[in-house]
Amino acid sequence: MIVIKFGGSSVADADRIRTMAEIVKQRVSQKPVLVLSAMGDTTDRLLEAADAAINTGSCSIDGIQELHIKTIAALGLGTRVESEITPLLKELQDLIMGISMIKELTKKTKDYLVSFGERLSVRIAAAYFRTLDVRAKALDAWDAGFLSDDNYTAAWLLKESWEMIPQKIRPLVDAGVLPVITGFIAKTAHNTITTLGRGGSDLTATVIAAACKAQEVQVWKDVDGILTADPRLVPNAKPLEAITYEEAAELAYYGAQVLHPRSMQPCVKTSTPVLVKNSYNIRAPGTRIVASLKKTAPVRAITSRKNVTLVDVVSTRMVGQVGFLEQVFSTFAKHGISIDMVATSEVSISVTLDTNYDLSRLQEDLLKIAQVNIKTGKAIVTIIGDVERSSEILSRAFSVCAAAGIQAQMLSQGASKVNISFIVSDTQAAEAVRRVHKEFFS
Ligand code: ASP
Ligand code: MG
Repeated sequence: MIVIKFGGSSVADADRIRTMAEIVKQRVSQKPVLVLSAMGDTTDRLLEAADAAINTGSCSIDGIQELHIKTIAALGLGTRVESEITPLLKELQDLIMGISMIKELTKKTKDYLVSFGERLSVRIAAAYFRTLDVRAKALDAWDAGFLSDDNYTAAWLLKESWEMIPQKIRPLVDAGVLPVITGFIAKTAHNTITTLGRGGSDLTATVIAAACKAQEVQVWKDVDGILTADPRLVPNAKPLEAITYEEAAELAYYGAQVLHPRSMQPCVKTSTPVLVKNSYNIRAPGTRIVASLKKTAPVRAITSRKNVTLVDVVSTRMVGQVGFLEQVFSTFAKHGISIDMVATSEVSISVTLDTNYDLSRLQEDLLKIAQVNIKTGKAIVTIIGDVERSSEILSRAFSVCAAAGIQAQMLSQGASKVNISFIVSDTQAAEAVRRVHKEFFS
């Protein structure tokens, strides 16, 4: 058995769905399980519709409706799937009206709202497969064993899922059925819909693969695999032949938008290989993600993340203060603020965090024990490479940055052994990535 996942752009319209189906059909002998995202930008469109309902009172789902109805017509599905799609669109319309009346969108409602995207796409795709004589069955994730906690918009799967998923999926596959499963969503034990976080369909796919002990996960995207850098910043970035789970996870977490950051976790347990492929360029070999690789070059890839705030916390006592780190970190935890990078000395700590947090309360608390300096407008530049060669990597990276007048402000090299990160100003991030990429890849 293999798991094949297609992202939104790979099922964006009737043509893309035909290509997707062709790719899957070529693999039927490998007993595929299919995981799909919502069509195109449907998730964003759903959130925009709710925004409009709250802010302007307009309750239109016209664009979303039109995309799905047109696709059904273009695929020649007509009445075959209308009975499944019409009630969903009706329910969605009612929900948007409800949101416009209540004028608020809780995380719980948000998850219910965006779930329509995946629920629509799997039904259309499964109906299309049946016209190709493939015995396909659309499944909502909860009918495939996905049970989660109630941490809406970023839910975690409960451990029961690990047993339920194979129990639901295996018999279908063994009976020669192609399960077409909604990515991204799940349900709580109380029957409310949750999501696994934006881009969560990758995680759905890797969870199924690990739980069912599949041979491989194929993640079909609109790029030639995982690249040495973001091609929008570095036009000559090259696809990687292979990368490790750890490297892929660090890359995803620090800004590369190829995979959901948590999606590597399930595969680590079972060493299930993940293949990232391009549905717009089927011949491209793609990138294999595996447990371990021989280290050859010092640097595997470079990424950056903007919208970062740097917080310097300096103890007001000049000499060693027992428990200072603990006090500082527990203050962040108390305010629910997640930290990305950390650098420390005896009396000071620098951390980075997402700029979206409101830091006023945190600052008040920290000022009781330290001086606090908050700097916004920063970016993290992350080099994924061989940390054992960090002196070489850093001296080369810093010298090309310095030559371009780019000041690196804080340095951290994680225990992960693959991540070396530093802070630059937001406006210089792109140039820093380009310079470092050029230094190591040309
Ligand atoms: N449709 C969801 C999103 O856009 C999940 C996914 O595509 O993986 O975030
Ligand atoms: Mg999507």
